[in-house]
Amino acid sequence: RTSLAGVPRGRLQALEAREKSRFIANRPRAAEALARGAWPFLDGVPMHWMRDWPMPHLPLVSHAKGASLTDIDGNQLHDFCLGDTGSMFGHSPEPVAEAIRRQAGNGLTYMLPTEDALEAGRLLTERFGPFRWQIATTATDANRFCIRVARALTDRPKILVFNGCYHGTVDDAMVELADGRTVARRGLVGQVQDLTRGAVACEFNDLEGVETALAAGDVAAILTEPVMTNSCMVLPAPGFHEGLRDLSRRYGALLIIDETHTISSGLGGYTNVHGLEPDMFVAGKCVAGGMPTAVWGMTNDLADRFHAYDETRPPGHSGMGTTLSANPMQFACLRATLSEVMTAANYAHMEAGAARLSAGLRDAIERHAAPWHVVRVGARVEFICAPGPLRNGAEAALAHEPELEGVIHTALLNRGCLIAPFHNMMLVSPATTNDQIDRLVDAFDEVLTEFF
Ligand code: PMP
Repeated sequence: RTSLAGVPRGRLQALEAREKSRFIANRPRAAEALARGAWPFLDGVPMHWMRDWPMPHLPLVSHAKGASLTDIDGNQLHDFCLGDTGSMFGHSPEPVAEAIRRQAGNGLTYMLPTEDALEAGRLLTERFGPFRWQIATTATDANRFCIRVARALTDRPKILVFNGCYHGTVDDAMVELADGRTVARRGLVGQVQDLTRGAVACEFNDLEGVETALAAGDVAAILTEPVMTNSCMVLPAPGFHEGLRDLSRRYGALLIIDETHTISSGLGGYTNVHGLEPDMFVAGKCVAGGMPTAVWGMTNDLADRFHAYDETRPPGHSGMGTTLSANPMQFACLRATLSEVMTAANYAHMEAGAARLSAGLRDAIERHAAPWHVVRVGARVEFICAPGPLRNGAEAALAHEPELEGVIHTALLNRGCLIAPFHNMMLVSPATTNDQIDRLVDAFDEVLTEFF
């Protein structure tokens, strides 16, 4: 292709070469440290995804506070990645840092609850609704446990997910559509089971497709994000969520709403802001201010059904829970986050900042007549290097331009702005300032000036 998303390849390559050199010139200490110390790790990274950052090599972080991050070479970054949502409320929010200090000398894990646990339970219900809660450590685990409950209660095997979705490293969600058929996602490491026996994929915003899948009578639950945030950003069409709810009830499937990312929507997540009625609710990542914690809950009706089911099985291994989950440090952080960080005032700041950011990016796109668009879900903003809106995962896959986006990400980084890898996601935290937002908009504008 001679151009990508309207960008002539020659210009892209010229910018790429310049930005790579600039990145390397600004990070000699990181390069030296990695050359000396990365060898014990598989492929030189402590977590496999870190290979997917687009820069010539990784920076090493020295410290982070609020919406700023400093690397060991002394580069200060305005952080719009925020740990890909784990730090959506800012790095080390003071109430959470204080809770950690308080708990630090009182034991870190004992497989027994604390008084903080009881208060966290009350706050979870106050924030997210009358669900009966469980605590997990990752959203991946929370989704897996929801899936177990759904299968147990319906006695059906399949989970309906949307093409292009991501719900963590959950086997049952690792399927996609190929020529209209559900297949295992390409690229899965060491996959031996036939994932299509436990999952069926449909396109987002396709209620007819969903009904056809449900009509087979073997679907235990629909697992979905309210907005597809892991596939560029695909918004639900008007009526889509009402349709999902109606269809799931009609065909006896449960509805699991994964709010891990859309918790950016506002107080109580998208579910609360838009009045969704899930049977099960999942949130993770930022829910305890960055302390690894996830929560999952089910309606009271479902909890009663689960209780009755639970009586019928032999005691012991349920396949739900992990040893370090529901530990006192998680509860201290969960309580602090829910009561003092996840507040209406903080959400108002995030919302206003994200509106400023999306308006700035949109304006730049318009001025440069780039065939791109911007989508915002509360504090979460995404620019997409294709015209919009996108309606489903198939369209999102076509809109995604990893080669081009990698160059943009490195160029933004060289201009002091870090955005999430893999796609073009930016988060505005309670600590993010208008000045930081304007810096990102200016950096984006500079990149577009190079391209168009
Ligand atoms: N659900 C959604 C919607 C996600 O985006 C992710 C991670 N990106 C997860 C679940 C899994 O979170 P974790 O990696 O913390 O398990």
